[in-house]
Amino acid sequence: MLKALKPPIGRKAAVSEPEFFDHGTLVAVLTIQPLDRALDYKAPEGGVRRGAFVEVPLGPRKVLGVVWGPGQGDYDYAKVRHVIRVLDTPPMRDEMKEFLERAAAYTLTPLSAMLRLGTRAPGLGDPPSMRKVYRRGEGLPDRVTEARTRVLETLEEYGTLAFTLRELAEMAGVTTSVVKGLVKQGIVREEDSPRDMPFARLNPALPGKALTDDQTAASASLAQGVRSERYGTTLLRGVTGSGKTEVYLEAVAAALRAGRQALVLLPEIALTAEFLTRVEERFGARPAEWHSGATMTERRRIWRMVGEGNAQLVIGARSALFLPFQNLGLIVVDEEHDTSYKQEDGVLYNARDMAVLRASICGAHVVLASATPSLESWANAQAGKYTKLELASRYGPAVMPTMGTIDMRNEGLKSDRWVSPSLKAQVDRRLEAGEQAMLFINRRGYAPVTLCRACGNQIGCDHCDARMVEHRFLKRLICHQCGESKPMPEACPSCDVEGKLAAVGPGVERLGEEAAALWPEARVATLSSDMYGSARALKAEIAGIAEGAADIIIGTQLVAKGHNFPNLTLVGVIDADLGLTGSDLRAAERTFQLMRQVAGRAGRADKPGTALLQTYQPEHPVIRAILAGQEEQFWQAEAKERGQAGMPPYGRLAGIILSGPDVAAVFDAGNQLARNDRVLRDVGAQVFGPAPAPIARVRGRHRVRLLVKADKNVALQPALARWIRQIKLKGDLRLAVDIDPQSFY
Ligand code: ADP
Ligand code: ZN
Repeated sequence: MLKALKPPIGRKAAVSEPEFFDHGTLVAVLTIQPLDRALDYKAPEGGVRRGAFVEVPLGPRKVLGVVWGPGQGDYDYAKVRHVIRVLDTPPMRDEMKEFLERAAAYTLTPLSAMLRLGTRAPGLGDPPSMRKVYRRGEGLPDRVTEARTRVLETLEEYGTLAFTLRELAEMAGVTTSVVKGLVKQGIVREEDSPRDMPFARLNPALPGKALTDDQTAASASLAQGVRSERYGTTLLRGVTGSGKTEVYLEAVAAALRAGRQALVLLPEIALTAEFLTRVEERFGARPAEWHSGATMTERRRIWRMVGEGNAQLVIGARSALFLPFQNLGLIVVDEEHDTSYKQEDGVLYNARDMAVLRASICGAHVVLASATPSLESWANAQAGKYTKLELASRYGPAVMPTMGTIDMRNEGLKSDRWVSPSLKAQVDRRLEAGEQAMLFINRRGYAPVTLCRACGNQIGCDHCDARMVEHRFLKRLICHQCGESKPMPEACPSCDVEGKLAAVGPGVERLGEEAAALWPEARVATLSSDMYGSARALKAEIAGIAEGAADIIIGTQLVAKGHNFPNLTLVGVIDADLGLTGSDLRAAERTFQLMRQVAGRAGRADKPGTALLQTYQPEHPVIRAILAGQEEQFWQAEAKERGQAGMPPYGRLAGIILSGPDVAAVFDAGNQLARNDRVLRDVGAQVFGPAPAPIARVRGRHRVRLLVKADKNVALQPALARWIRQIKLKGDLRLAVDIDPQSFY
């Protein structure tokens, strides 16, 4: 599918001195302003190199930009303004420029928007500011307390390292005033130090775990790929718990030994707590951590240190791909099938595909790790484009769980109840044995629908074509589409009758309520992102549960990923049919992946696990494939179906989403595009639509969608670019292109 990217296999990163422009020479500067071209400026006094980060005047403002190349010279030289200053930050490397250009061309995104992704750190040009740090001073305190001793011990343990006040207090487990008291006496020294400190060196020579034969073979193959310093992609497939992480950490070690940087992409912040500890254990120091929760100062530090080569390893969310690595040797995409790799807002890109692009430009190796790969990656491995590595079994005594269905047609479940008698009996047995059980439902909130029993109205969002979801814990109705929320009303907003609003259908909170009623003696923990104030609180809760703080865990897909619950031996999937019926091309694939992953939560330590799926359609091919553990058959069947329909990855798709406040104007624009499809037909592509997008209104904007389908070998982007250029977007109308759409929204 990534035909247009076509990585130049085997190319090494080119090393040559970038072009230098003397004072007064015209240079083209690309800014992060939404303009469709680079602008000419005169090189400043002292000259400037290609790739330099600069500040330039734009109208009355000063904006950030990058010297992209020689100026075009199509503007009166006398009127061209000077670059204001060259920023004190490492210049953008040619390979990064190439990456941004090709990513922009692939996703049909303006280059300026790509540059914005590549400069997402505040105050890039500021001189590094100072901050206070603390280290061991002289002597002993006047009064020795336990808290004071802990502070001194912490400092002594880390020798010459300096800490911020917060870090030191946290590590010693004391309040900051204890530290300040020691500062007054000179026992702890306070100093000024530059804010952007290099990250601690990681040590790849520390011993890793003793690997099994399977694991050793896989890690040797990956390490060899990294050492070759040539582009290559490996699909590392293995059931949950088979040691994929252990294996790719050895690839990271190989990159570090070769003096190259490594990037590990993870789908969710919730994953990192446990993960970071493992990385620290393996390499003796913490890596850089890039995610949406990082503060501005942290971001700035990481951006600078990555650019200076003073961060060897970054663990990050998808946007970490756009950091200015100097010498990137390895990119790991963990849980590569995860939908959160597709950015669905702003620049629409898939981080997994962009990782392959970036690696192909800088001669790095890519590892795609998953228990349940995406069909795209599976197909690329089948076709020989990716190397395939498999870890066949779980590590140690852990075995795959036994899987079974509960046929809900025979359970005689009362309305508004979701746990079948059969499932209840199974949970009872685990509780008696002192083991944990998990009930899984992939729906946040209390109930998906709030219905008025007086008038039949279902409460919807004022701005979207979506129902409001009751979150009883927050006492609010929330739109999962736009995030709009309002207090839970007493009366129906439509007919004003009071006391007739009823919750319909199950959400994770409601399931928690049912569990508490079914098992009054048990400790029930409901894990849903909105029930915890912060990612940190959630992480702490998960860690507590892993250590046994709950008997029954109720969770959404948050718990399907990566966490280890050693005492968990039963997973009950409340609604395995959810997602089987959608019109989404990937519904079957997603259900398969999710169910396999949830099942993978059970029996990770020495106790065998069981996974039970409640379903009304036990005969459904997807359910049967899951039960039989017939992954290969599932992929083959799915591949065949997509192949016959000419759908990705065996064909190409692009979505065009038009949106605006006026529904008629949006449809007019859609129809106009659909009529003028000559340029597409010329390359053999077909247009479908316009049709209302599945969520036809978001935040008050009406959305219309066209789908373009083409043969796998068609160079679709240039044709699409010509096609959409034909339409003038009037007023508040907007157009977004979604190459390889993932969700059909
Ligand atoms: P995956 O990434 O495939 O889910 P992990 O790498 O997280 O698997 O391994 C699952 C668990 O088994 C982890 O706790 C890990 O530390 C442990 N483990 C895996 N391989 C080994 C090994 N060779 N020696 C010791 N522990 C291992
Ligand atoms: Zn809404």
